[in-house]
Amino acid sequence: MEQSTHLPHTPRVVRLERIQDETPSIRSFWFSDTSLHDAKPGQFAMVWVPGVDEVPMSVLAIHGKSEAGVVIKKGGPVSVALWEKKVGDRFWVRGPYGRPFHVGHHQKLLIVGGGTGLVPLISLLVHLRGREITLITGARTASELLFKDWLTRESREQHFELIFATDDGTYGDKNQVPKVVEHTLQRQKFDAIYTCGPEPMMKTVYDLAVEKRCHIQVSLERVFKCGVGICAACVIGPYLACRDGPVFTDAELSGMPEFGQTRRDLSGKKVSLSQGH
Ligand SMILES: Cc1cc2nc3c(=O)[nH]c(=O)nc-3n(C[C@H](O)[C@H](O)[C@H](O)COP(=O)(O)OP(=O)(O)OC[C@H]3O[C@@H](n4cnc5c(N)ncnc54)[C@H](O)[C@@H]3O)c2cc1C
Repeated sequence: MEQSTHLPHTPRVVRLERIQDETPSIRSFWFSDTSLHDAKPGQFAMVWVPGVDEVPMSVLAIHGKSEAGVVIKKGGPVSVALWEKKVGDRFWVRGPYGRPFHVGHHQKLLIVGGGTGLVPLISLLVHLRGREITLITGARTASELLFKDWLTRESREQHFELIFATDDGTYGDKNQVPKVVEHTLQRQKFDAIYTCGPEPMMKTVYDLAVEKRCHIQVSLERVFKCGVGICAACVIGPYLACRDGPVFTDAELSGMPEFGQTRRDLSGKKVSLSQGH
């Protein structure tokens, strides 16, 4: 199908070309879409499964000239509907949307990811090739470490420091990611930190960054309905996370008391972050 790179709001049907099991609960889905292929690290797509719902997903575009991917953790209705799809099946996408990570001229960088939060950080890592990078990522156990083999290969070829952490010690450092970040910040100084993952993890990393006076950017996950700053389902402080984020700077986060504390559920009600949608 011929696709324009200039009409991100027009939903486009895409056909699955490749599906890959990444961990027992995370699968990647690859298709051709030039607009999403050109997404900047940290931008997202709205992914629609007709009859189910539409949700935001980070975009991964590291191969080929038009290939894009979404990496999905199996959970509720939309992710399960996508997991049931086979090569050749179709779904709909629009985007890319949102404000990406701002890269600037910083040279020594710390990247911290957890779960599918690693997805936009992989795009960022590829974008930042050549800089001095340390990447920390973790999971409960070895089999749940996302992109373990790809990251190991890439760290050897691109010469960056890679630290895996598992809660049960089955691979890498037997620690939770924030502890590993704390230890790393004790022995090294960074120009900037980029993080995406569970919000309690990001809040601890943010607090450590503030303590060390290190610039940090955080990608926030909220309920996005329109994805383009109209419906306000994702309001957080003075911002709309889909339009002004999902990536926010330390200066913006400091004026956002909700960060690490509350989110809005599907009805717009504020709930504690430990509760669901
Ligand atoms: C910027 C951004 C990037 C994301 N990237 C990824 C990614 O790379 N991989 C991944 O697996 N998940 C990602 N998510 C989370 C994803 O949007 C869904 O929350 C997740 O797939 C769970 O949906 P579900 O239907 O499987 O289950 P549940 O969590 O049980 O959700 C139940 C229902 O709530 C609604 N809903 C849930 N989450 C959202 C949401 N964020 N916005 C609007 N409606 C929602 C849908 O109707 C959904 O079916 C991202 C979210 C954001 C905001």
